[in-house]
Amino acid sequence: MNVLVVNAGSSSLKYQLMDTVTREVFAKGNCERIGLDRGIFGHAVAGEEKVTEDALFPDHRTAIRAVLDHLAGLDIAFDGIGHRIVQGGWYFEDSALVTDEVYAKILEVAPLAPLHNYGEAAIIEYCRERYPELPNVAVFDTSFHMTMPEVASTYALPKDVVDKYHVRKYGAHGTSHRYEWMRAKELLGESCHRLLSCHLGNGASLCAIEDGTCRDTTMGLTPLDGLMMGTRCGSIDPATVCYLQREGGYTYDEVDEMMNKRSGMLAVSGISSDARDIRDGASRGDERCLLAFDMFAYKAMTQAAAMIASMAGVDTITFTAGIGENDWSIRKAFCECFEWLGVRIDNDRNRSAERGDRVISAAGSSVTVMVIPTDEEYMIASDVERLAV
Ligand code: AMP
Repeated sequence: MNVLVVNAGSSSLKYQLMDTVTREVFAKGNCERIGLDRGIFGHAVAGEEKVTEDALFPDHRTAIRAVLDHLAGLDIAFDGIGHRIVQGGWYFEDSALVTDEVYAKILEVAPLAPLHNYGEAAIIEYCRERYPELPNVAVFDTSFHMTMPEVASTYALPKDVVDKYHVRKYGAHGTSHRYEWMRAKELLGESCHRLLSCHLGNGASLCAIEDGTCRDTTMGLTPLDGLMMGTRCGSIDPATVCYLQREGGYTYDEVDEMMNKRSGMLAVSGISSDARDIRDGASRGDERCLLAFDMFAYKAMTQAAAMIASMAGVDTITFTAGIGENDWSIRKAFCECFEWLGVRIDNDRNRSAERGDRVISAAGSSVTVMVIPTDEEYMIASDVERLAV
C-alpha cells in the first residue's frame, strides 16, 4: 500500500510517501517556518537531489496544501494518509481511523498540547476535504503509554483536580519506542522480554517495555518532563515554577518559554542545544560543555535505573535518535554506569562507523545492548495499512 505520512511539529511539517511492503520511499520533504514570515519548502523524489524553495506558510493548512499540490504534480498515487499526532489524551490506546468523532476528540484534548494538536488537526481537516475518499489514520505519540500501570501514570494531586483536568503521565515518543520494541523482538526473539528503550535526540525519553507493554516512561503530562534535553530542563522540583513566579516576577508564559526553549543542554553549556557543538566545546576543555555532557549522562543513568526497577530487571537496551544513534561516547558513559548490573559494551562495535541495526554489547554481557535507528514514518504507514478500511 502507498501511504503518505505527515509528521507536523509546531512550526514544521515533514512528509514521506512510502510503500508499506517494500518500505521504498518515493518522495519526501519538509515545510519549515510555518507561521513565520519566510518559509522554506524542501522536497525530493527518490534518486534525485533535494530541491529547496522559498515559500510562505501562514499556517499548517497552507503547508499541507503546498505538499499535496506538489505530490499531485509528481503523479504518484497514494491510498491513505497517516498523521502523527502528539497528544491523544485519555481517549486513544491505539492509532485510529479518523472519523468526525475521532477528529473532535483530537481537538478536545488539544489543550494538553496546544502548539501541536491544533496544527495537526488543521492538516487532517484539509486532507479530508481534498481527498474525501482516502482513509486518514491518526497515530498518537501517547497511545503506546496508555497501558502503563496506574501506579506509574498517576500524579499525587487531589483527585478532583486530576479528574477535572485529566492530569496524568501521558509520555511521548510512543511511536518510536513501539518501533524499538518491534525491531528488537524481531532481531532477538525469545531472549527479549524487558527492554529499556532510550530515545536520545533533541527531545529525549526513556521507556520501560515489558513483553510489548509500556511499564513506565520518563516524559509526563507533557514532553518537558524526564531527561535533560536540548532546550528543555526535564525533571526539576515543581515548586521551582511557583518560586520563579513569586520571587522572580516571571509570568506563566515566561517560565513556560524558559523551561521549554532556553534550558537543558543549551543553558548548561551556554553555547548550543546541539550535542555536536557541545562535544566540540568539551573537547576544547570548556567546563560548561563538559558539565552539560556529564549531566546528560548522569540524568539518563539515574532515570534509567528507575525504568529498570519498574520492570524488575532488563535484558535489552536500545539506543535511537540523533544522539543515541551517533554519539558513541554518550552510549559508553551510560553503559559503564550499569557495569554493576553486568552490562558490558564492546568498544570496537560501539565506536564502529557501521550504520543500521547493530549489537554493541560484548560477548558475556548480561544485557544485549543495541543501536536501532528508529523509523516512526514506517510505523505510521503500517498503522494506516492495518486500520484503513
Ligand atoms: P534528533 O532530535 O533525533 O534529530 O537529534 C538531534 C540531536 O542529535 C542533536 O543534539 C544533534 O547534535 C545530535 N546528533 C546528530 N548527529 C550526531 C552525530 N553524528 N554525533 C553526535 N550527535 C549527533
